[in-house]
Amino acid sequence: MSRARCERCLKPLSMCYCKDLTPEKATVDLLILQHFRETKHPLNTARIAELGIENCHILAGEDFSQNATFNNLLQTKNACLLFPSEQATSWQQLTSESEQKPDLIIVLDGTWRKARKMLYLNPVLQSLPAVTLSEAAESNYRIRKASEESALSTIEATVALLREVSQDTHAHQNCLDSFERMINMQIEAMGQSTFQKNYR
Ligand SMILES: [Zn+2]
Repeated sequence: MSRARCERCLKPLSMCYCKDLTPEKATVDLLILQHFRETKHPLNTARIAELGIENCHILAGEDFSQNATFNNLLQTKNACLLFPSEQATSWQQLTSESEQKPDLIIVLDGTWRKARKMLYLNPVLQSLPAVTLSEAAESNYRIRKASEESALSTIEATVALLREVSQDTHAHQNCLDSFERMINMQIEAMGQSTFQKNYR
């Protein structure tokens, strides 16, 4: 028999992290392309963005070329892609150089390998201007999480970019609070050593 789950964050009720997560509107729309293998991952942080950011939409899959929502958004919006490619610039640089500010940020949710695969399978994404976090934003998070080698999680990178966009250094703190809660409950549930071994 399966345990009762929270219908918002999909965690067992004892591990619900979303109780205080009320949606807030971001200053720019978000589309998270989630690799289908990530949807069941216990640390699915894209879900936090979906619950905590009003104008955030998630599509799960790998090849989105036949997806009507995806194609419609790309046709109607001025999109950019959060991805640290060689040509990527900071948000400030991108918006100072272009006349029309992007009104949609696309975020790839998956390991580096899966993100690259999504990029490869969806060439339209390669044609979008790429943005990356400014050094200041990135180092801010690296200091806070200095003990970890891994890259930022999807929710952390998303919030960091939204803070650069809005120039509000406290924006979407509710998402990061829920992220902390999720991590802490996950560690508690599986024990510190198992967590370190499997997720670090
Ligand atoms: Zn919940």
